[in-house]
Amino acid sequence: MSVRIGVIGTGAIGKEHMKRVEQRLSGAKITAVTDVNPAAAEEALHELGIKANFYPNDQALIDAEEVDAIFVTSIGPAHEATVRKAIEAGKYVFCEKPLSVTAKGCKTIMQDEMEYGKRIVQVGFMRQFDKGYEQLKQAIDSKVIGEPLMIKCAHRAPEVDAAYTTDMAITDTLIHEINILHWLLADNYVSVQVLYPRKNKHALPHLRDPQVILLETESGVLIQAEVSVNIKYGYDIQCEIVGEEGIVSLPETESLKIRHNGKQSTDVLQDWKVRFQDAYDKEIQVFINQVAKQEALQGPSAWEGYVAAVTSDACLKAQESGQREPIELESMPAFYSTERKVQLL
Ligand code: NAP
Repeated sequence: MSVRIGVIGTGAIGKEHMKRVEQRLSGAKITAVTDVNPAAAEEALHELGIKANFYPNDQALIDAEEVDAIFVTSIGPAHEATVRKAIEAGKYVFCEKPLSVTAKGCKTIMQDEMEYGKRIVQVGFMRQFDKGYEQLKQAIDSKVIGEPLMIKCAHRAPEVDAAYTTDMAITDTLIHEINILHWLLADNYVSVQVLYPRKNKHALPHLRDPQVILLETESGVLIQAEVSVNIKYGYDIQCEIVGEEGIVSLPETESLKIRHNGKQSTDVLQDWKVRFQDAYDKEIQVFINQVAKQEALQGPSAWEGYVAAVTSDACLKAQESGQREPIELESMPAFYSTERKVQLL
């Protein structure tokens, strides 16, 4: 069976996912789209050479007979309502982060999914499908460096547009570290503090950049996460885990080593879409494969969406207060307890 996908939100990431389904992945096709801006949706279909039907709103698309599964790639505040409609209709749903802009909204979605009785929601935390992070996970789980003690990581981008605000360093940027480190360690966060080093002169006046976020986990792992979004030299993701008996680091991305004019150099990537292309491909392929088999999904869950929302809320509070803020999670429902290690494909 070819999985028929309806896309809700045909903006930047929506188009990327439509393109990968049609051009690189197997077992699915885009049959339906909707967007608050119909002209933009038509333009996206035209640009990508995709023949799919336009629907006036999310409910109409979800109800369409020609739609087996939904991509929610609209803006964050619209996600919760659409995901709930998809669950109610019993349709599998891949939702870009955030699952909901509030922890309460994530809990409501979990409740809906549990009542439905099968995991049919996957959240777009694509780093769990990145080869380098999978290797880190294997290293941690095999205890090759003993128990992890400290993590130093960085999320760096060359520039952001004027609409990027100080809180987005958490909700749009750090959110990926929040999820991936929680997955790597299988350890809940308990507190966070946010510090602001000397300001980067390239940052616009309204923006505090860089930021250093200090997270602590239940088992006592200390995490120092840097977010720098005006650092000019490139898009660079770093992660080093210090254990009891060694250190393990996220591998550098592949790049030709050039020796020329008395210098030896490698390129630094400039674009997140390129850095995580393989991971995006894999998260969507895994989703398609499980939908095709009508299995319970195993990719990033609504519970992980909830953990990210609670943690992100505490980080925002810590941005304001300058204090160490607690992170308090409810206990994980047994429904979400099957822990995925690596290698879903
Ligand atoms: P975007 O370019 O603004 O695209 C969002 C699209 O959804 C726009 O076309 C927007 O129309 C449309 N839209 C807004 N409200 C809608 C609604 N209620 N129903 C249907 N369509 C609606 O944003 P983006 O960069 O693609 O981001 C979309 C989501 O993906 C965000 O939640 C973002 O955080 C997430 N994202 C995730 C990653 C990742 O690495 N996983 C990367 C990028 C983005 P208008 O433009 O007319 O408002």
